[in-house]
Amino acid sequence: MEINKINVTSDNIFPIIKKFLYSNQEVFLRELVSNAIDAIIKLKTLIQLENWDEITDNFQVKIIIDKINNTLHILDNGIGMTKEEVDKYINQIAFSGAEEFVKKYKNLSTTDSNIIGHFGLGFYSSFMVANKVVIYTQSYKKNASSIFWSCEGDPSFVMKEIEKKDRGTEIVLFINEDKKEFLDYDRIFKLLQKYCKFMPISISLSSKSKDNENKEKEIVVNNTNPAWKQNPLQLNDKNYLDFYHELYPNQLDDPLFWVHLNIDHPFHLTGVLYFPKIEKRIDLQKDKIHLYQNQVYITDNLEGVVPDFLSLLRGVIDSPDIPLNVSRSHLQYDASVQNISKYITRKVADKLDSMFRKNRDDFQKKWKNIKIIVEYGMISAQNFFEKAIKFFVFYTTDQNYFTLEEFKEKIKETQKNKEGKIVFLYSSDKEKQYSCIKEAKDRYYEVLIFDSPLSVHLIQKLEFSYQDICFVRVDSDHIDKLINFRKEEKYHSELSEKEKQDLKNLIQDHLMKNFQFSIQLEDLSKEDNPFLIIIPEFLRRIKEMNSTIEKDIIEEKDNKYYQLIVNTNHILMKKILKETSEEKRKKILQEALNLTLLSKDLLYGKNLTNFISKRLEDLIQE
Ligand code: ADP
Repeated sequence: MEINKINVTSDNIFPIIKKFLYSNQEVFLRELVSNAIDAIIKLKTLIQLENWDEITDNFQVKIIIDKINNTLHILDNGIGMTKEEVDKYINQIAFSGAEEFVKKYKNLSTTDSNIIGHFGLGFYSSFMVANKVVIYTQSYKKNASSIFWSCEGDPSFVMKEIEKKDRGTEIVLFINEDKKEFLDYDRIFKLLQKYCKFMPISISLSSKSKDNENKEKEIVVNNTNPAWKQNPLQLNDKNYLDFYHELYPNQLDDPLFWVHLNIDHPFHLTGVLYFPKIEKRIDLQKDKIHLYQNQVYITDNLEGVVPDFLSLLRGVIDSPDIPLNVSRSHLQYDASVQNISKYITRKVADKLDSMFRKNRDDFQKKWKNIKIIVEYGMISAQNFFEKAIKFFVFYTTDQNYFTLEEFKEKIKETQKNKEGKIVFLYSSDKEKQYSCIKEAKDRYYEVLIFDSPLSVHLIQKLEFSYQDICFVRVDSDHIDKLINFRKEEKYHSELSEKEKQDLKNLIQDHLMKNFQFSIQLEDLSKEDNPFLIIIPEFLRRIKEMNSTIEKDIIEEKDNKYYQLIVNTNHILMKKILKETSEEKRKKILQEALNLTLLSKDLLYGKNLTNFISKRLEDLIQE
């Protein structure tokens, strides 16, 4: 027997391969099955090109677990290899590929390892789990002899001609003692499900055992024609939904809608992206978009490939044009990756736009589920913002829906501030801000609902893009300060300057020590509340912009943000000033203030509003 040496330049590659990517050894199976599939596709291409009709096999890859000999077999009836080809592809090219890969790997961080495991390590990755690998192969070429090749994880190998076998290749892995998990049927089944579920040639799995009883029957593990590879015109809704559940077997909900991607130039990309139902909670870890290359699963870490805001979507992207051996941090600078990202963004925006145009009612029904993705996109991607602003839905506390232009048109005459900007009044919580919304509605103003965790960022973006509008939260000041509509209607002051100063001092003295509000006296309408607690818009925004917590959370200790507005024209103020008994005055003032501070959020809802005005009336009568 002839023993040869692989032409090694680096001393011994095998120990490195064996240790390599400890957590990701399972990729060996993907590599070997991809090779088997490639071998079949090559042969099928030849058959087509040459118009052969003598080969009519059922093309198939078989995975067999042999529990008797502790071996794992990967068989294909593809193109096979001649002796020269084994020498060239396995001894030289595959080996040098593996060697090069190991060199590269040394300089890459472990976070990159997931993606670079693919293409490059290839055949030799089998030595991560096997101490010996054998190849039996028969080329499709009629005169070629069958070849046996064997290697025990060191640079020497055996290669010889053997008795004629059927066309194709069989790879036999003698699984390491400590890698027995790869002889477990369920483990291999799960790996095939993960990496090979949509490969284009049928793949079957079976097992052999001594007693014949413990063997598993042959089953086909893949769908060779997944939805994303098909012509969208041939697919109906059910096909798309079925495919979604095939991709995410644990997902119970149907997606809302989907976008079929298909482009050939300037890069190749196919795929289907699904919009899941998302309200406020987003689980970024689960069921992410899967990246495939020619139907081979690569990863679900698409950071840098799809824009961040679309990482909330689900589905598949299949593109051979995404470089895998580039470190993640460089990926986003890659020109083709940038184009891919732009293309996906455009397709998603176009889909939303056409849904909005075709059936606006239906779009508005779905809006609460898609809004957060749209908002995220508008904030983070200018090209998306420009498209999305045409279908972004503004909705009011009365459940009326508007586009930006429609809303501007509706309020441009009635809702303006001192600077002449159109004021978009909004509420982040209809219940808590009830009393302020009511004040606004009494004046026939429209109040929008802006209650997403991204609201503050979107508002900044909108104000920056449209200089003629501004946003103010409905509780950020007295309504007549926010909107200058009644500017000619200045209220006459019921108190003298002296009285005002006295009142201010009194309030200051009686305000509980832990509330360090600034106090502001205003001549408002007699009908308005005696006190109003506000957080000026700009202060709250700064706070929210810097807040990592969801929104709106201004803790009590931060009450320096609050301002106490005192309505000097309210009858209660006169009563306080006139009161001669120091004790009684103190009591009235404290109770009125307490009432104002009553709710935890310092803002009150409907029931509290009614209760408070009732109590205040009593106080005045007392
Ligand atoms: P890659 O697949 O990236 O080219 P590999 O190391 O996995 O690298 O394989 C090296 C080469 O060996 C392949 O390109 C192919 O020519 C040949 N090869 C591997 N497996 C098979 C197979 N099952 N049938 C035919 N040729 C194979």
